[in-house]
Amino acid sequence: MKDAVVEVRNISKSYTRGRKALDDISLTVGRGEMVALIGASGSGKSTLIRHISGLVCADRDGGDGEVRVLGQTVQSCGCINSGIRPLRARIGVIFQQFNLVSRLSLLTNVVTGVLGRIPVWRGTLGLFTHEEKLLAMEALRRVDMDRYAGQRASTLSGGQQQRAAIARALVQRAEVLLADEPIASLDPESARRVMEVLARINREDNITVVVSLHQVAYARKYCPRTVALRDGRVIFDGPSEALTPDFLLDLYGADSEELVMDDTLEAPARQRNFPVAPTRGEPVRAVAMATG
Ligand code: ADP
Ligand code: MG
Repeated sequence: MKDAVVEVRNISKSYTRGRKALDDISLTVGRGEMVALIGASGSGKSTLIRHISGLVCADRDGGDGEVRVLGQTVQSCGCINSGIRPLRARIGVIFQQFNLVSRLSLLTNVVTGVLGRIPVWRGTLGLFTHEEKLLAMEALRRVDMDRYAGQRASTLSGGQQQRAAIARALVQRAEVLLADEPIASLDPESARRVMEVLARINREDNITVVVSLHQVAYARKYCPRTVALRDGRVIFDGPSEALTPDFLLDLYGADSEELVMDDTLEAPARQRNFPVAPTRGEPVRAVAMATG
């Protein structure tokens, strides 16, 4: 793929012997894409995101597995690239919770996004320049959180904290954002706002976004492409609109209940046709699973 931002090739991971959290995963995400990663709990979403960001190392005996981000090696053959630090600065990571330091103000939390590119001593002393603070304010404005800049992070709702975490990734100048279930613990309105902010920075800043989600309705609404995991394997990679409740039932069996959410978010009826022509000039790979 031209201008691939995330390249995962033949990655396997067993935390415990004989049980694969990731089972020979391969995946490529191009610059500017917004891709949903879906799957029931335990399917490997967090593990995959941790492998892409270089927080977890793949199995060594898995052969020649490799993760590359922005053209550089994150890990290969079960070893994290020792020179990964500068690359990490270009990768934003957002977790389900614990994204902010609760006793610090929102502005301070967001301005720490510059830490990857300023001298360590200045960061340690918390000496940020006026320009850096302005940059943080501007990022907060873009996620519609500037009016809370002086407030302690702990006083804000989960959705507001997630938006601030996205602002920090903007200050970081992340070129790719990996978000691991950023809306899992949010009410629908807060979830919608977080997804809209992700979609906006994807569109306006051309930041590549990979977001894991529990519920398919959000993938269908915000992400043109979905990669579906089951038991550590990719079982579907194609247009999100193909993920109708019936198709999900095919892919996941009874587990599909966990993924389907039929509220007002559901896309209109026109998207219920299947099969759908691939939108990205690539074949839809729906790997038939041996269920049972
Ligand atoms: P998801 O994020 O889709 O819920 P995970 O990636 O967290 O799935 O988990 C995939 C599998 O790996 C599960 O079987 C889970 O129990 C296992 N697993 C994840 N993290 C660890 C860990 N640190 N130690 C042992 N097993 C783990
Ligand atoms: Mg998870």
